[in-house]
Amino acid sequence: MINDERLPWHEAHWRQIQQSRATGRLPHALLLTGPAGLGKGVFARRLAQGLLCKAPDPEGNACGHCRACHLFQADNHPDYRLIRPEEDHKSAENDSSKKKSKVIKINQIRDLCVFLDYTSHYSGYKIVLLEPADRLQVNAANSLLKTLEEPPGNSLLLLVTAQAARLPVTVRSRCQVLSFNTPSREVSGPWLASQLSGSLEPIALLDAANGAPLAALAYADGERWRRRQSLMKDYEQVITGQLDPIQAAENWMQGNLTENLRWLINWHTDLVRLKMSPDTPQFRNPDARSVLQNWVIRQSSHRLFARLDAAIRLHTLCATTQVNTQLLLEVFFSSVSGNEKSNTF
Ligand SMILES: [Zn+2]
Repeated sequence: MINDERLPWHEAHWRQIQQSRATGRLPHALLLTGPAGLGKGVFARRLAQGLLCKAPDPEGNACGHCRACHLFQADNHPDYRLIRPEEDHKSAENDSSKKKSKVIKINQIRDLCVFLDYTSHYSGYKIVLLEPADRLQVNAANSLLKTLEEPPGNSLLLLVTAQAARLPVTVRSRCQVLSFNTPSREVSGPWLASQLSGSLEPIALLDAANGAPLAALAYADGERWRRRQSLMKDYEQVITGQLDPIQAAENWMQGNLTENLRWLINWHTDLVRLKMSPDTPQFRNPDARSVLQNWVIRQSSHRLFARLDAAIRLHTLCATTQVNTQLLLEVFFSSVSGNEKSNTF
């Protein structure tokens, strides 16, 4: 959906990396970190293609027309590997009721080491992209250490993650970190507007996506935006006692649960802000202001803070451990159900 891979908020990082390359100081391992939705993976692929291209432009961008570029675009370049998490059969076998987790396994890392040890086909770089790198299993991460310590010549490892803290320190400390920050609305607003068709308002989308431009663009595909509206309606009906918490939990399990829970946190952050300062200009969901204002009226600030904490805990639990998420959601919704009337919890 992105028409141009040269994302304007990447330019400073791009110049920095190209300068390192020009002076022969490009590291063997780069850790690209920062919030989701900023296009770190897009940057990594742009860099990989630029390094493999036979006729890059003066800024290091791939030409898009040479044989290397064609092979890269067809996911078929012999000097490039993409490592993605695979289904963890062991955890799936142990308990079929739990969701199957995806991890980067030790055999994937062993294959990667063999790949890097061979001479490159085009006597250039050999590049591996691990995304998301935080899915490395412990033994896989250990296996990667040796390669990070003694990388074969002209090899480049690109580790992409929105959760750098989940990577072992031993891995992180052996990479040069390239940290991506959420761009300002002055930068992301015009870019998003150039990508949108129709009447969608770029700033409302960016606000709903915490300023992450690619997340905002994904909202614009309509389906996610509709899901957000539908979940908001469900939640409102739970609050007013019109929808059973068990049914609501079932609805909320649909789609991307982590994203659903981020919305829940966003709404509660805004509810607390509204309670503290009704005219707050800092607002994550400006399109939903009137709905949230209705929710906030009959709730105490103590209660709103407690619900925000509970929403954050729920998100953390669901993201880090294999728990019965639907049950946790039911408990959460039961605690808010009908509270406009009773206000007891
Ligand atoms: Zn090319």
